[in-house]
Amino acid sequence: MQRRTALQSYQLARQNWLYATTDTLSQLQNRRTWYQQAEHQLLAAQGGQQPLSLLMLDVDHFKAINDRLGHAAGDQAIEALGELLLASCPSQAVAGRLGGEEFAVLLPDCDLQQASLVAEHLRAAIAALPLRLDGQTFRITASIGVASLPADSLDALVREADRQLYLAKAAGRNRVSVADAVLAASTPG
Ligand code: GH3
Ligand code: MG
Ligand code: MG
Repeated sequence: MQRRTALQSYQLARQNWLYATTDTLSQLQNRRTWYQQAEHQLLAAQGGQQPLSLLMLDVDHFKAINDRLGHAAGDQAIEALGELLLASCPSQAVAGRLGGEEFAVLLPDCDLQQASLVAEHLRAAIAALPLRLDGQTFRITASIGVASLPADSLDALVREADRQLYLAKAAGRNRVSVADAVLAASTPG
């Protein structure tokens, strides 16, 4: 009886931990957890002089998917995207949903070139993802910005990957844009 109570409290604690750290729709890490883990990985990479890269990913014209097919279709797309990221990223990757239709994938031990290959693989897999809702099939695409160490801070790395993401959008979406240097945190603009 006492053992069962201990097991139940363990299960409850685990459930609470999952709720606190995981985004329920995508099953990826939530924003706060992703930032904590990313900070940790960045310090480890900098300390060990190991490569590390970041992908910032945003679904293209997601508002139009909601408008055209309904909010449930948008939710379905986020669920499927979470599954795809968990299944397709390297095992040491830290994948999170930062909010809305924006995702971040931190790639320890990946230099810029390797990260670009991962990004291109993900981009193609997302575009090929067969999505279905109420018998209707639809597809999504995503744009991805890539940045790598060296960077002064996680914020600087995120800013550069975001800048690349913006360039990917501006260049026509459904594409990967890659940085070859990360701007210092103190650089204006
Ligand atoms: P862009 O290609 O420039 O990224 O265009 P966009 O339409 O994807 O971007 P925008 O920021 O205009 O719209 C994002 C939309 O994402 C608006 C919001 O309603 C929708 N959205 C955010 N979170 C969710 C969610 O959890 N579920 C659903 N269904 N929609 C969401
Ligand atoms: Mg978008
Ligand atoms: Mg967005």
